[in-house]
Amino acid sequence: MPSAIYLDHHATTPVDPRVAALVMHTMTTAFGNANSTEHMYGEEAAHLVAQARREIGLLLDAHPNGVHFTSGASESIRMALAHAIDEHPERTVHIAVTTVEHRALLDAVATYEHTGRVIVHWLPVDEYARLDLAVLEHVCSQGVDLVCVMAANNEVGTIYPIEVVAHLATQAGAKILVDGTQAAGRVPLQSNAFGISYLIISAHKMYGPKGVGALIVPTHIDMHVTHEGTPNVPGIVGLGEACRLRRLEMGEDELQIAAKRDKLALLLQNTIQGIVINGDPENRLSHNLHFAVPDVPNDVVIARLRRYVALSSGSACMSGAQTGSHVLRAMRLSTAIQEGSLRLGLGKFTTDTEIEMAASYITDAITATRATLQAVRN
Ligand code: PLP
Repeated sequence: MPSAIYLDHHATTPVDPRVAALVMHTMTTAFGNANSTEHMYGEEAAHLVAQARREIGLLLDAHPNGVHFTSGASESIRMALAHAIDEHPERTVHIAVTTVEHRALLDAVATYEHTGRVIVHWLPVDEYARLDLAVLEHVCSQGVDLVCVMAANNEVGTIYPIEVVAHLATQAGAKILVDGTQAAGRVPLQSNAFGISYLIISAHKMYGPKGVGALIVPTHIDMHVTHEGTPNVPGIVGLGEACRLRRLEMGEDELQIAAKRDKLALLLQNTIQGIVINGDPENRLSHNLHFAVPDVPNDVVIARLRRYVALSSGSACMSGAQTGSHVLRAMRLSTAIQEGSLRLGLGKFTTDTEIEMAASYITDAITATRATLQAVRN
């Protein structure tokens, strides 16, 4: 059992024990097939799935009938893209995409681009990963079918003004796909009120189980689902319960997490010379602390910290591929900053003691790395 302090909550979160208890219940007691409603087992499972739909709808201002369960955000993204593109079988589809979307979306879009099915209009970001709304407005005015803007960035934590983005897209007659994987349960997201066409969520980013997520659409969008198969009742129930708890607790939780994040930032700023905090200082996920120590290679620091602090260089969902961060490149950060960047992600179970210990471990690792580099140079 690893004992390192876990500060990689962007990659995944531990399951809340209350969620785990309910998941366990649906695996061992309420284990019926939700499609087999001729008996009480199936009926109970169907009831639990319906309840999960309602909870997801309540957290995200969506109609329960517009909730389509998937295996996670990556599948939801592929489903949403396929649906938006299939709406125009007779012509090339124009899609506006930010340069900092998650790989799951960028790779899916690239596949359609290679086959000539879509033309991509890139939406650039500034050094804080912020979107230029004037550029978005201009791109929309050229005629796009779909706008893809994530609700919050998984590397630097920048939060996007989805309500405004959705308004601009809708005015231009475009649909809007919002990857809410990192933002759902942390910042308010209102599918109906904002006018979001496709909203993507994943349970394991909000203290729910892995392998379950949802694509949420307004009820007027027909996803042409015929037979969905046997629902993953434990996963769905876990997602629903995670959403219920986020709805009730996220306000207070996120304030406390932000206070701990700020304390950690201060401790590091006080002890590490030359540290730079990345991401939007004004609109950033409360648990995100992405920083760089220019000229101190992040892989060396991560290796030194391996037994003490679980942290990441950023793009964690890339199956260990060491290709650097497309997000930091899109932000046009210097190579020294890109190579010295580290991402910390706090969670609701992170304690003050862990924050203090992590600050000390990280400072020691960076000081030791600097000393080694200095010795090599001399
Ligand atoms: N989108 C974002 C913003 C993410 O952070 C991730 C995972 O890190 C994904 C999509 C993919 O999520 P999943 O693991 O549920 O497929």
